[in-house]
Amino acid sequence: NDEIDIMGILLDRVDYYKASQRIMEFLESPGAKIVVTPNAEIIMAAQKNKKLKDAVNSADLSLPDGIGVVLASRLLGRPLEQRTTGFDLMMELLKMAADRKLSIFLLGGKPGVAEDAAKNIKKKFPGIRVAGTHHGYFDESGEEKVVGIINEASPDILFVAMGAPKQEIFMAKNRDKLRCRVAMGVGGSLDVLSG
Ligand code: UDP
Repeated sequence: NDEIDIMGILLDRVDYYKASQRIMEFLESPGAKIVVTPNAEIIMAAQKNKKLKDAVNSADLSLPDGIGVVLASRLLGRPLEQRTTGFDLMMELLKMAADRKLSIFLLGGKPGVAEDAAKNIKKKFPGIRVAGTHHGYFDESGEEKVVGIINEASPDILFVAMGAPKQEIFMAKNRDKLRCRVAMGVGGSLDVLSG
Protein backbone atom coordinates (compact mmCIF):
# COMPACT_ATOMS: atom_id res chain seq x y z
CA ASN A 1 0.00 0.00 0.00
CA ASP A 2 1.50 3.30 -1.11
CA GLU A 3 1.27 5.76 1.78
CA ILE A 4 2.89 9.04 2.65
CA ASP A 5 3.32 10.50 6.13
CA ILE A 6 2.84 14.25 6.52
CA MET A 7 3.48 15.41 10.07
CA GLY A 8 2.30 12.10 11.45
CA ILE A 9 -0.82 11.85 9.30
CA LEU A 10 -0.92 8.94 6.86
CA LEU A 11 -2.25 9.61 3.36
CA ASP A 12 -2.83 7.17 0.51
CA ARG A 13 -1.21 8.03 -2.79
CA VAL A 14 -4.20 7.37 -5.04
CA ASP A 15 -6.14 9.35 -7.63
CA TYR A 16 -9.94 9.44 -7.96
CA TYR A 17 -9.96 6.35 -10.12
CA LYS A 18 -7.95 4.28 -7.66
CA ALA A 19 -9.88 5.71 -4.72
CA SER A 20 -13.18 4.69 -6.36
CA GLN A 21 -11.78 1.20 -7.01
CA ARG A 22 -10.82 0.82 -3.36
CA ILE A 23 -14.25 2.00 -2.26
CA MET A 24 -15.90 -0.51 -4.61
CA GLU A 25 -13.89 -3.24 -2.89
CA PHE A 26 -15.00 -1.88 0.49
CA LEU A 27 -18.62 -2.07 -0.63
CA GLU A 28 -18.24 -5.76 -1.30
CA SER A 29 -16.47 -6.72 1.90
CA PRO A 30 -18.03 -7.15 5.35
CA GLY A 31 -17.63 -4.56 8.11
CA ALA A 32 -17.60 -0.78 8.01
CA LYS A 33 -14.65 0.82 6.18
CA ILE A 34 -13.73 4.39 7.00
CA VAL A 35 -12.76 7.05 4.44
CA VAL A 36 -11.28 10.40 5.49
CA THR A 37 -10.02 13.37 3.49
CA PRO A 38 -7.60 15.35 5.67
CA ASN A 39 -6.78 18.90 4.64
CA ALA A 40 -3.97 21.11 5.92
CA GLU A 41 -6.16 22.39 8.78
CA ILE A 42 -6.91 18.87 9.98
CA ILE A 43 -3.23 17.91 9.81
CA MET A 44 -2.39 20.96 11.93
CA ALA A 45 -5.23 20.30 14.39
CA ALA A 46 -4.11 16.67 14.73
CA GLN A 47 -0.72 17.82 16.05
CA LYS A 48 -2.47 18.91 19.24
CA ASN A 49 -5.37 16.46 19.25
CA LYS A 50 -4.32 12.85 19.65
CA LYS A 51 -7.88 11.57 19.36
CA LEU A 52 -8.20 13.23 15.97
CA LYS A 53 -4.79 11.96 14.87
CA ASP A 54 -5.55 8.37 15.90
CA ALA A 55 -9.00 8.56 14.30
CA VAL A 56 -7.59 9.79 10.98
CA ASN A 57 -4.78 7.24 11.00
CA SER A 58 -7.15 4.36 11.72
CA ALA A 59 -9.08 5.03 8.49
CA ASP A 60 -9.03 2.49 5.67
CA LEU A 61 -8.57 5.16 3.03
CA SER A 62 -7.11 8.61 3.61
CA LEU A 63 -7.09 11.09 0.74
CA PRO A 64 -5.53 14.54 0.72
CA ASP A 65 -8.13 17.28 0.51
CA GLY A 66 -6.61 20.52 -0.64
CA ILE A 67 -3.66 21.73 -2.59
CA GLY A 68 -1.65 22.49 0.57
CA VAL A 69 -1.30 18.81 1.35
CA VAL A 70 -0.30 18.01 -2.24
CA LEU A 71 2.37 20.74 -2.15
CA ALA A 72 3.74 19.43 1.14
CA SER A 73 4.00 15.95 -0.37
CA ARG A 74 6.04 17.38 -3.26
CA LEU A 75 8.39 19.06 -0.82
CA LEU A 76 8.83 15.72 0.91
CA GLY A 77 9.80 14.20 -2.43
CA ARG A 78 6.94 11.71 -2.58
CA PRO A 79 4.29 13.58 -4.54
CA LEU A 80 0.69 12.64 -3.95
CA GLU A 81 -1.59 12.32 -6.94
CA GLN A 82 -3.79 15.22 -7.90
CA ARG A 83 -5.74 16.88 -5.12
CA THR A 84 -8.91 14.89 -4.41
CA THR A 85 -11.55 16.94 -2.68
CA GLY A 86 -13.92 15.28 -0.27
CA PHE A 87 -16.81 16.93 -2.05
CA ASP A 88 -15.81 15.62 -5.49
CA LEU A 89 -15.28 12.13 -4.14
CA MET A 90 -18.71 12.28 -2.54
CA MET A 91 -20.16 13.18 -5.99
CA GLU A 92 -18.39 10.14 -7.49
CA LEU A 93 -19.82 7.92 -4.79
CA LEU A 94 -23.33 9.31 -5.28
CA LYS A 95 -23.06 8.54 -9.00
CA MET A 96 -21.83 5.04 -8.22
CA ALA A 97 -24.62 4.57 -5.69
CA ALA A 98 -27.26 5.65 -8.21
CA ASP A 99 -25.88 3.31 -10.91
CA ARG A 100 -25.84 0.36 -8.55
CA LYS A 101 -29.03 1.22 -6.64
CA LEU A 102 -27.10 1.44 -3.39
CA SER A 103 -28.49 3.11 -0.29
CA ILE A 104 -27.02 6.11 1.50
CA PHE A 105 -27.50 7.74 4.90
CA LEU A 106 -26.80 11.44 5.44
CA LEU A 107 -25.64 12.40 8.94
CA GLY A 108 -24.78 15.96 9.87
CA GLY A 109 -25.61 19.62 9.53
CA LYS A 110 -28.24 21.60 11.35
CA PRO A 111 -31.75 20.09 11.65
CA GLY A 112 -33.37 20.03 8.19
CA VAL A 113 -30.13 20.32 6.20
CA ALA A 114 -29.69 16.57 5.60
CA GLU A 115 -33.34 16.27 4.52
CA ASP A 116 -32.97 19.12 2.01
CA ALA A 117 -29.71 17.63 0.75
CA ALA A 118 -31.46 14.26 0.34
CA LYS A 119 -34.17 15.83 -1.82
CA ASN A 120 -31.61 17.47 -4.08
CA ILE A 121 -29.50 14.31 -4.27
CA LYS A 122 -32.53 12.24 -5.32
CA LYS A 123 -33.25 14.75 -8.09
CA LYS A 124 -29.67 14.87 -9.29
CA PHE A 125 -28.96 11.14 -8.95
CA PRO A 126 -32.12 9.23 -9.90
CA GLY A 127 -32.09 5.65 -8.69
CA ILE A 128 -30.24 6.39 -5.49
CA ARG A 129 -31.85 5.10 -2.31
CA VAL A 130 -31.80 7.37 0.72
CA ALA A 131 -32.07 5.06 3.71
CA GLY A 132 -32.19 7.88 6.24
CA THR A 133 -31.00 11.27 7.45
CA HIS A 134 -30.10 12.80 10.82
CA HIS A 135 -28.75 16.15 11.95
CA GLY A 136 -25.28 16.40 13.44
CA TYR A 137 -26.02 18.16 16.71
CA PHE A 138 -25.89 15.56 19.45
CA ASP A 139 -23.42 14.96 22.28
CA GLU A 140 -21.75 11.76 23.42
CA SER A 141 -24.83 10.73 25.39
CA GLY A 142 -26.90 10.87 22.19
CA GLU A 143 -24.41 8.94 20.11
CA GLU A 144 -25.73 5.46 20.82
CA LYS A 145 -29.20 6.49 19.74
CA VAL A 146 -27.91 7.93 16.47
CA VAL A 147 -25.88 4.77 15.79
CA GLY A 148 -29.09 2.82 16.41
CA ILE A 149 -30.98 4.93 13.86
CA ILE A 150 -28.23 4.43 11.27
CA ASN A 151 -28.14 0.68 11.92
CA GLU A 152 -31.89 0.43 11.61
CA ALA A 153 -31.53 1.97 8.13
CA SER A 154 -28.42 -0.14 7.45
CA PRO A 155 -27.15 1.91 4.47
CA ASP A 156 -24.40 0.89 2.06
CA ILE A 157 -22.74 4.29 2.39
CA LEU A 158 -22.86 6.60 5.39
CA PHE A 159 -21.84 10.22 4.77
CA VAL A 160 -20.78 11.94 7.99
CA ALA A 161 -20.90 15.71 7.66
CA MET A 162 -20.18 17.05 11.13
CA GLY A 163 -16.86 18.77 10.42
CA ALA A 164 -13.48 17.94 11.94
CA PRO A 165 -12.72 16.60 14.48
CA LYS A 166 -16.24 15.44 15.37
CA GLN A 167 -16.86 13.38 12.24
CA GLU A 168 -13.50 11.57 12.26
CA ILE A 169 -13.77 10.73 15.96
CA PHE A 170 -17.39 9.58 15.58
CA MET A 171 -16.48 7.19 12.75
CA ALA A 172 -13.38 5.78 14.45
CA LYS A 173 -15.15 5.29 17.76
CA ASN A 174 -18.17 3.55 16.28
CA ARG A 175 -16.60 1.62 13.42
CA ASP A 176 -17.22 -1.76 15.04
CA LYS A 177 -20.84 -0.90 15.80
CA LEU A 178 -21.85 0.76 12.54
CA ARG A 179 -23.88 -1.32 10.14
CA CYS A 180 -22.76 0.13 6.81
CA ARG A 181 -20.11 -0.78 4.26
CA VAL A 182 -18.44 2.60 3.90
CA ALA A 183 -18.49 5.63 6.20
CA MET A 184 -16.97 8.77 4.79
CA GLY A 185 -16.34 12.15 6.42
CA VAL A 186 -17.54 14.95 4.15
CA GLY A 187 -17.33 18.13 6.27
CA GLY A 188 -19.69 20.88 5.15
CA SER A 189 -20.86 19.07 1.99
CA LEU A 190 -24.49 18.74 3.08
CA ASP A 191 -24.70 22.53 3.46
CA VAL A 192 -23.65 22.82 -0.20
CA LEU A 193 -26.02 20.07 -1.37
CA SER A 194 -28.98 21.43 0.58
CA GLY A 195 -28.85 24.79 -1.21
N1 UDP B 1 -21.73 20.23 12.26
C1 UDP B 1 -22.49 19.23 12.80
N2 UDP B 1 -22.38 18.99 14.15
C2 UDP B 1 -21.55 19.67 14.96
C3 UDP B 1 -20.75 20.68 14.38
C4 UDP B 1 -20.85 20.93 13.03
O1 UDP B 1 -23.25 18.58 12.11
O2 UDP B 1 -21.50 19.38 16.14
C5 UDP B 1 -21.87 20.49 10.83
C6 UDP B 1 -22.13 21.94 10.46
O3 UDP B 1 -23.51 22.20 10.49
C7 UDP B 1 -21.56 21.99 9.06
C8 UDP B 1 -20.41 20.99 9.11
O4 UDP B 1 -20.65 20.19 10.23
O5 UDP B 1 -22.52 21.55 8.14
C9 UDP B 1 -19.06 21.61 9.31
O6 UDP B 1 -18.70 22.20 8.20
P1 UDP B 1 -17.25 22.82 8.06
O7 UDP B 1 -17.21 23.41 6.72
O8 UDP B 1 -16.95 23.67 9.27
O9 UDP B 1 -16.36 21.53 8.18
P2 UDP B 1 -15.03 21.20 7.41
O10 UDP B 1 -15.48 20.75 6.05
O11 UDP B 1 -14.24 22.45 7.40
O12 UDP B 1 -14.46 20.11 8.25
